[in-house]
Amino acid sequence: MNLDQFQKDLVAYAATIGIDKIGFASAEPFFSLKHQLIRQQQLNYQSGFEEPDIEKRTHPELLLEEAVSIISIAIAYPSKMDDAPRGVRGARRGIFSRSSWGQDYHSALRERLMQLEAYIAAHYPDARMRSMVDTGELSDRAVAERAGIGWSAKNTNIITPEFGSYVYLGEMITNIPFRLDEPMEDQCGDCRLCIDTCPTGAIVEGGQLNAQRCISFLTQTKGFLPDEFRTVIGNRLYGCDTCQTVCPKNKRKTNQIHPEFQPDPELAKPLLEPLLTISNREFKERFGAMAGSWRGKKPIQRNAILALAHFKEESAVPALIALMEQDERPMIRGTAAWAVGKIGTAEGFAALTERLEVEADGEVREEIEKGLAFYTELQKG
Ligand code: SF4
Ligand code: SF4
Repeated sequence: MNLDQFQKDLVAYAATIGIDKIGFASAEPFFSLKHQLIRQQQLNYQSGFEEPDIEKRTHPELLLEEAVSIISIAIAYPSKMDDAPRGVRGARRGIFSRSSWGQDYHSALRERLMQLEAYIAAHYPDARMRSMVDTGELSDRAVAERAGIGWSAKNTNIITPEFGSYVYLGEMITNIPFRLDEPMEDQCGDCRLCIDTCPTGAIVEGGQLNAQRCISFLTQTKGFLPDEFRTVIGNRLYGCDTCQTVCPKNKRKTNQIHPEFQPDPELAKPLLEPLLTISNREFKERFGAMAGSWRGKKPIQRNAILALAHFKEESAVPALIALMEQDERPMIRGTAAWAVGKIGTAEGFAALTERLEVEADGEVREEIEKGLAFYTELQKG
């Protein structure tokens, strides 16, 4: 077996199955990441969605005993939507972040990694492999950085010169002594646009994210959204792209390469009001295949309510009142009450006053009172 030739063939094969970039990293432990993760844990900057075992996240040999190398793959996704529908008064729209457009990237990456595994197994019979995507133990970004896919940017994304940061990342640990790629030099330079533009100040210092303040994470939580974030979330239903869209390195990186990631505009920018009453079944049918639906409909509905408040969409007040009065879920009733107050119509004020008489849930009552307080403010103003 000529390993050098095999590696070249593997790279060529990867291109034929829609892998846009491939790199090879050593499977040495990720010591500096370990240090960073411990620090993040101490500061409570983690989202809670990540693998809790820092040892597993930083020691590839714990995941594959014979680990020697890690193959990192990147697939570009589009940043531009053709024929994007525009929300107008009376028909407002929300937005799913770009990483949720089209086919769920987990399945797209998994398919490619399985194809790669099959190719390797057919040509390298002694191969041992373990592939992972996003929810795997290793940090996709740390692997991609080491494999020279791109540099680890201040907005905490990996930026590739070819596709910007609009890339999905996955990796495969192997026992094959591939020739290793060099990490790429940082190209952020003095720029700090992402840090300054982040609506919540979640990028605390170059390359470090406080996930507890990041809108991308907050859109995925299931409880009440803390008050300070309710007005900054805007019309985001899932995820946040701000620190990517402002990045000069992403300019003109439209990446309309893979048809499966092209968004259905009606799903990526759906009308908000129908989301308020969508059934579980319909939600699953319409949005179930999108990466952004993985937490179910409740966070999306909460975010839709907040988006209507953001637009001060008066025509949505009757629907929001109905939610406040009838929805079984206290978080939805309470968020609707807050939104009714925020929009600030006379009809809303009357409904909040009445509801306060009968609402039994303490948290919901608090939200009704917050809603009513907006009226007091309005009168003062
Ligand atoms: S995703 Fe949004 S909230 Fe999170 S760091 Fe980027 S700009 Fe800030
Ligand atoms: S906006 Fe500037 S600092 Fe932030 S990731 Fe892009 S190049 Fe780097």
